[in-house]
Amino acid sequence: MRLVVIGNGMAGVRAVEEILARGGGERFDITIFGDEPYGNYNRIMLSEVLAGNEPEDAIFLNGLAWYEENGITLRAGVRVRRVNPFARKVYSDDRGVTRYDKLIIATGSVPYVPDIPGMRVAERGFHQGVFTFRTIDDTRNMLRYAKGHRRAVVIGGGLLGLEAARGLQNHGLDITLVHAGGHLMNQQLDAQAGAVLKRAVERLGIRVELNARTSAVEGTEKVTGIGLADGRSIDCDMVVVAAGIRPNAELARASGLVVERGVVVDDQMRAVDEPDIYAVGECAQHRGKVYGVVAPLWEQARVLADHITGADPAAAYHGSRVATKLKVAGVNVAAMGVAGPEREDDEFVVFAEPSRGTYKSVVVRDGRLIGATLVGDVDKVAFLSQTFDQGLPLPEERVRLLFDLGGPSAETSVAELSDDAQVCNCNGVSKRTLVETVRGGVRSVTGVAAKTRAGKGCGSCRSLVEQIVDWAAGGAAEVDPSANWYVPGVPLAKPELMAEIRARGLKSVSAVFATLAPGGAEDARSKMGLASLLRVMWAEEYVDERDARFINDRVHANIQRDGTFSVVPQMKGGCTTPDQLRRIADVADKYRVPLVKVTGGQRIDLLGVRKEDLPAVWADLGMPSGYAYGKSFRTVKTCVGTDFCRYGLGDSTALGIALESTYQGLEGPGKMKLAVTGCPRNCAEAYVKDVGVVAVEGGRWEIYVGGAAGAHVRKGDLLATVATPEEVVTLTGRFLQYYRENANWLERTYAFVPRVGADHVRAVVVDDAEGIAERLDRDVQAAVAAYRDPWLEGRDPATPGQFRPALPLIEVR
Ligand SMILES: Cc1cc2nc3c(=O)[nH]c(=O)nc-3n(C[C@H](O)[C@H](O)[C@H](O)COP(=O)(O)OP(=O)(O)OC[C@H]3O[C@@H](n4cnc5c(N)ncnc54)[C@H](O)[C@@H]3O)c2cc1C
Ligand code: SF4
Repeated sequence: MRLVVIGNGMAGVRAVEEILARGGGERFDITIFGDEPYGNYNRIMLSEVLAGNEPEDAIFLNGLAWYEENGITLRAGVRVRRVNPFARKVYSDDRGVTRYDKLIIATGSVPYVPDIPGMRVAERGFHQGVFTFRTIDDTRNMLRYAKGHRRAVVIGGGLLGLEAARGLQNHGLDITLVHAGGHLMNQQLDAQAGAVLKRAVERLGIRVELNARTSAVEGTEKVTGIGLADGRSIDCDMVVVAAGIRPNAELARASGLVVERGVVVDDQMRAVDEPDIYAVGECAQHRGKVYGVVAPLWEQARVLADHITGADPAAAYHGSRVATKLKVAGVNVAAMGVAGPEREDDEFVVFAEPSRGTYKSVVVRDGRLIGATLVGDVDKVAFLSQTFDQGLPLPEERVRLLFDLGGPSAETSVAELSDDAQVCNCNGVSKRTLVETVRGGVRSVTGVAAKTRAGKGCGSCRSLVEQIVDWAAGGAAEVDPSANWYVPGVPLAKPELMAEIRARGLKSVSAVFATLAPGGAEDARSKMGLASLLRVMWAEEYVDERDARFINDRVHANIQRDGTFSVVPQMKGGCTTPDQLRRIADVADKYRVPLVKVTGGQRIDLLGVRKEDLPAVWADLGMPSGYAYGKSFRTVKTCVGTDFCRYGLGDSTALGIALESTYQGLEGPGKMKLAVTGCPRNCAEAYVKDVGVVAVEGGRWEIYVGGAAGAHVRKGDLLATVATPEEVVTLTGRFLQYYRENANWLERTYAFVPRVGADHVRAVVVDDAEGIAERLDRDVQAAVAAYRDPWLEGRDPATPGQFRPALPLIEVR
């Protein structure tokens, strides 16, 4: 029997997965059409891709192998134009005609774009600089355009508009959110909650215009602004329209199916009067309702699969209760059901503290929760979602719905949760699936998540997933053994792995795989970590294999979002010379470098260099790389210290240069950023570096380790106070070597130091409690001796004059 699916999106493919789970692979010869030229991906996660939080490849749900393994013909990039229900044929854009016995329409939605003058250009589609937000291509186009522009207007203050606004803001754009409604997220929130949300959004630096109707998109060549109905204009370089969605049902309408807002379906998801045609997802209209979130489509897909495979011909869909969560970092909003009382006897409990950005409310009808809104504080979201989905009985004191007053404990609520309860809304995973996976032998949270995808959407259910796995495993959830492996492809923790490598003398990545990986299998995800470890262990003896390197390491430059590279010449201690500056300027001119930028680490970044120009750029620069790309020792930031500063207690610049000269390029599990500052005024921010050195009274130096001022902010722990710069250089090297040997792959010092304990680090590195200090010094010196500037290797050694530093170096023993 031939099953044809139109739409390779979340609903269509989910329906096919459910059909396969019911043995449908035997009964159906399946073809899926999708007009996007990709496999099946999690559309929800596009917000994270836009925000730069997830790479594109992390959002794919089924790779091409899945289609092949299941004997499914995927027609990616092929649009279906028309269906002939009488002849049971679909006609596609490639002039193909495909016959079907059963057909599923899962064409999703299209963005609603109001007909505003200037929005479109005759015969060209959208005006240059106007975007919608629905597909991977939309997301890519926005990211590309955002790169060269400064100001964006997002039209629409709903979930999608807010996520688009924040996503673009993450790329440095100045954002105005223009919303026609009187308050943000007016579909889900009441005016009071909307006002709290507005304040939170404005605190992020996003301007919000309410009651603002866009009347024109301005600009002749490209967008230059938008006009509002009240006569005002807002200047901008790009416009994102997130004004709502419409079911994509034109194809069905043109094919003679009954379409109102969406394709009208019955409780078995069958199109009216068409027993062999089903519709599922956002294009379907059930009992007058169309849905714009994923949770309903999981339920619809199950019913459809039960029916089409005959697994349960009586299965029926009765509609869904919907909950939504905003995926904007720093602004927590969760809403479910109705926003306020609708009947006279509805109970409405509200707590609002606008100055702290908190609003919570619940609506109760006949002892059941029919709505809840949480803005700011969303601690109770898991409990409220379960109560809402399951219609669970409510505590007598309704305030317990909003606050933990010794309310139902996690264990009770997990045990009470019915098997059908949907735990992960983004991926439609029920408690039953989680419990069965645990009973099937997968007893770790990571294992269960990998198998079911639970927790891999917006992430808000992760703690509930953990609780359920633990509960299902009788309180004995296993820690996934692979969680301790140094790399996923070799089943050994770091100390055992190092011992094996040493005992067997394995000096290349391929030798490690051949000897220690199960079946000798090579694993791409493990290569970088292994290459790094081998370099740490073998220094000069390490056998380099190019394919074990990440792109940045292969070309010694930092790959940027648009595929160009950034080149950062080394500038020890932030010092440079007129000659170096001249060369940098000449290179920037010659290779038309679009952006020359001073970095936070006191270097000059040449951004936008084409890959093919990289060797010539480096050759013309004639300077070593500043390691802006690697998991390695990067930079030593310095203040001006004694030479010029009135407060300086120590020569921070010279010490910074000495440190950088000694340890440049040193490989590590994560990047290593250092700073030396000439007095506790801390102009070089040494307290928040992997290693920070501060000159103090009496000619002494304090050494701090494990600091960070990136996504994590942490003040480093004091490792030691020493009397000479030489001791600083030695202890820094010893600490770095200890970190290199003992940290997990990609674990920065700010995680490593608290994990092993600052006292322990001090005991080993300073007091030599384990008797390994001398060996650590020796090994780090071996690594130092093995240093080769990767851009100069293969050519004659650099001339000594090329890197003459601006200040005299401290002699290093
Ligand atoms: C940026 C973004 C963030 C979101 N965040 C959330 C969230 O946090 N929570 C939530 O629940 N929901 C969220 N959603 C909504 C969610 O993605 C949708 O509810 C879900 O994708 C609907 O699934 P679907 O299969 O019906 O439609 P889609 O996933 O859109 O799939 C339809 C597919 O059919 C294809 N198609 C259409 N017409 C044809 C044709 N004629 N021929 C061939 N192929 C065709 C389309 O190209 C598309 O690939 C978000 C949506 C977006 C865009
Ligand atoms: S840290 Fe101290 S020595 Fe260095 S520049 Fe600042 S004030 Fe001067």
